[in-house]
Amino acid sequence: MNQTPEPDSAVLLNPGPVNVHPAVREALQYPDVCHREPEVAELMRGAREKIVAVCGGSQAYTSVLLTGSGTAALESAFASIVPPDGKMLVLQNGHYGRRLQEILDAHRVPCNCLSFDWGTAFDLLAFDQALADDPAITHVGVVHHETSTGMLNPLREIGEIAARHGKSLAVDSISSLGSESLDVLKDHIDWCVGTANKCLEGLPGISFVCARRAKLEALSEFPARGYYLDLHRHYVAQEKENAPAFTPAVQVLYAFDRALDLTLAETVEARSMRYAARAQELRAGLSRLDFRLLLEEDQFSNSVTVAHLPDGIQYEDLHDALKVRSFIIYATQKQLGSTVRIASMGQLSNNDIAQFLTALADVVMELSQRPSSVEEAA
Ligand SMILES: *Cc1c(COP(=O)(O)O)cnc(C)c1O
Repeated sequence: MNQTPEPDSAVLLNPGPVNVHPAVREALQYPDVCHREPEVAELMRGAREKIVAVCGGSQAYTSVLLTGSGTAALESAFASIVPPDGKMLVLQNGHYGRRLQEILDAHRVPCNCLSFDWGTAFDLLAFDQALADDPAITHVGVVHHETSTGMLNPLREIGEIAARHGKSLAVDSISSLGSESLDVLKDHIDWCVGTANKCLEGLPGISFVCARRAKLEALSEFPARGYYLDLHRHYVAQEKENAPAFTPAVQVLYAFDRALDLTLAETVEARSMRYAARAQELRAGLSRLDFRLLLEEDQFSNSVTVAHLPDGIQYEDLHDALKVRSFIIYATQKQLGSTVRIASMGQLSNNDIAQFLTALADVVMELSQRPSSVEEAA
């Protein structure tokens, strides 16, 4: 039971980091390099342009690269963009919506929260009303794909309402970029936060903010709340000085640049369909095995499924038994009770889901035939 699979042989069904294309891992082998040389400046410029392309941006948009996981880019954006006399309205229906509020609170950024139960769709009329009720609100913050429940929030409608009220929209699109439809222009997004290692299929260590150039420029008008993650500082360095503000994870960035090439070549539309097909196969299989889905199928994203565990099955036992078979599943937050999270992100092969479902059926059988620990103790 304690036999761990080879480090590179596991099929990752956690919601990032994902299994990557061999070309992405090969790009890590880029030779030792100084980050202030022109080849790195060129790498950064190229990657920044590709990010804007993935986000559907025009010339009015640019992007800023950060070294750090997705939360680094989230903190950089959410701590940097609201002026001292501004206020953000945060829409919440899960763990990551809550995190937006925690980041704002940590930096003493004024915010209102419009909260719904986990896995509950936003009431858009209430959102519209909340914006009408408080003229002090300048910004809106929302998670596109709420990875804790697998729910895809209605970005197009949210963007339309925020724009109608003249509010600046900031989106955590960390787990949606690459596999869901998102368009900074059509969705009226001023600030779009993403990371390398989820549906863009890069490796962990690089994250980014794609934003309107004019909005980034305007950040110079008020003091920064932090130093290392000050978004304006990184923007000025990367855009005007053509060099990173600090030492980036250069090799991880090469790998991400390769991953962006692969994303643009495949197209986000085709990748969305690839993930959606895997998710459908997974959801059908889970239902057959008595794992009741947390949400209606059309509420889920293309990349994450949350399901209730069948009676008598414990998450830890399921995880450990599947890990021995080289499949890595993921826990949920305690608010969701006895559930499991299974992602369909990344470079899964055509038969990975079928093989996973076979392994799952075996494990469920094995675990339900095993005497429970209570009986063992008796
Ligand atoms: C993964 C994720 C994050 C950030 O997680 P990191 O561990 O910092 O990369 C933030 N928001 C959402 C919606 C996510 O899925």
